[in-house]
Amino acid sequence: MTTPEPELANQSPPYEDVNLFDSDRPLQDAVSSNAGGADREALAAFGRRWGAADMFERGRQANAHPPRLEVLDARGFRCDTVEFHPAYHDLMAESIATGLAASTWNAAAAPAPAPAQVLRAARFYMAAQVETGHLCPLTMTRAAVAALVAEPRLAAMIAPKITARHYDQRFVPWWEKEGVTLGMGMTERQGGTDVRTNTTTAVPGGEGYVITGHKWFMSAPMCDLFLVLAQAPGGLTCFLMPRFRPDGSVNALHFQRLKDKLGNRSNASSEVEFADAFAWRVGEEGRGVRTIIQMVQLTRLDCAIASAGLMRMALAQALHHTRHRVVFQKRLVDQPMMASVLADVALEAEAAMALVMRLCRSFDLAAGDPCEAARARLLTPAVKFWVCKRAPGFVYEAMECLGGNGYVEDSLLPRLYREAPVNAIWEGSGNVMALDVLRAATPKSAQPVFDALAEEAAGLPGVRATCALIRQALAAGEAQARFAVERLAFLAAAAALRVSAPAAVTELFARTRLFAPRGAILGTSDISVAETEALLARALPM
Ligand SMILES: Cc1cc2nc3c(=O)[nH]c(=O)nc-3n(C[C@H](O)[C@H](O)[C@H](O)COP(=O)(O)OP(=O)(O)OC[C@H]3O[C@@H](n4cnc5c(N)ncnc54)[C@H](O)[C@@H]3O)c2cc1C
Repeated sequence: MTTPEPELANQSPPYEDVNLFDSDRPLQDAVSSNAGGADREALAAFGRRWGAADMFERGRQANAHPPRLEVLDARGFRCDTVEFHPAYHDLMAESIATGLAASTWNAAAAPAPAPAQVLRAARFYMAAQVETGHLCPLTMTRAAVAALVAEPRLAAMIAPKITARHYDQRFVPWWEKEGVTLGMGMTERQGGTDVRTNTTTAVPGGEGYVITGHKWFMSAPMCDLFLVLAQAPGGLTCFLMPRFRPDGSVNALHFQRLKDKLGNRSNASSEVEFADAFAWRVGEEGRGVRTIIQMVQLTRLDCAIASAGLMRMALAQALHHTRHRVVFQKRLVDQPMMASVLADVALEAEAAMALVMRLCRSFDLAAGDPCEAARARLLTPAVKFWVCKRAPGFVYEAMECLGGNGYVEDSLLPRLYREAPVNAIWEGSGNVMALDVLRAATPKSAQPVFDALAEEAAGLPGVRATCALIRQALAAGEAQARFAVERLAFLAAAAALRVSAPAAVTELFARTRLFAPRGAILGTSDISVAETEALLARALPM
């Protein structure tokens, strides 16, 4: 086969060396409308760096060369270490230096002032477009602080090493490092959702507790410390388990194997035995779930942000390709049916992103505003439910826009596709999120949130009927919970778009999602030619 000149090959040029912030008008608007506008230049610098070809290449390498477990050293002694490709370490160093694991806290483990959550979310969203596996330890590290504050002595020890924004990949005790990362171990073989079935035990001993048992999933095993759940004499309790004991010896975390996963391959997820491992207690005995749930609320938020990022990159790839590829003498993007698909995915991607950014605003305001705190509580599981569940089908549709090239590993789409389901599964799977919404939807705390959403979206097509449907479905209980939560996410998305998107986009979302939804497949919504052109121009400049 001879290779024609590039302009005759009818192939799209690589989508790289792009500015992920400057080229994303919906993101810019969402950041500004959620009080982050003053950081525009810093976000643009981040977008330029993360959109560079060498960052995409690092993402590729980190996944093409997955981590390797070393259980024993050359002399047969346990070493329990994991080796990563250098590209993974580069990504970790970049992300940590820019505050992805730290910028929402100060060194005293207190929340950083608004708009810290929104600004970090914007960066996290852009980083997720390039490589998501390495974001797992960063998410856990930043979220762990929310649980550690239950034990001020430990928080005072560890928080400064998180906010130092320094990545140190060496396997040495945490106190010898300027910066550390944290993981978590809750899920056991017999149950991940129902952690009350945890069989790992904790017995007081020495300066802390002796932990014996296993965890069936414990990701990022090269973290310096882990929050784990175990059964103490007073019931299920949260613990902080370091890789090294206070006397400097290696702690007894024995990794059995790494999971062979569908995606998320740059990240290591281990099965681990605790063979009389040392740990400190975090919070009171018997309050393990209450303590660690503070952390989990933040990791759930990150799942939604990352899924919105995956959707954005899939959309950008689809738009970029269809603007270059010609079929039947016309660019793909100009073919009416392809334009309908692209318009529908652009609308969905903007709604998902606007929804997560508005949710981050609630986290920013929660400390001083009970209604925003209640909003964060109610909407976090709803937003995780909808955005994370939407991502796999969305990425698949974007993949199809690239035809055969989209199915081939050289394009980014296969990796995005394999990555997409995990955010819905971990940190509480879909049904568990819906159950959590039911739990949070008590009349006292949730009614002001429903009222606020109805008011913010008032006048948009379908809002009144949607509010009624949500009420009825919530009252019907678990069997209707998925429907209630999906509608709630749509209502919240319409409210979020109202503050960040042009009126026409918000109207269109409400019309096609709340008022008159049509087919379940993307590309079946009733969107006019003029609306399509406006959406696509807004989604990605030519
Ligand atoms: C790549 C990866 C990395 C992970 N890393 C970690 C980690 O670092 N630390 C950690 O602790 N865990 C980790 N996990 C585990 C993850 O959090 C669990 O898999 C998840 O919480 C689900 O638990 P489970 O697998 O035991 O499934 P189950 O709890 O058995 O649930 C199975 C299904 O049943 C549904 N379900 C559960 N209860 C109900 C109900 N009452 N009504 C209706 N449906 C219900 C769930 O939604 C789910 O769809 C990881 C998982 C993956 C895939």
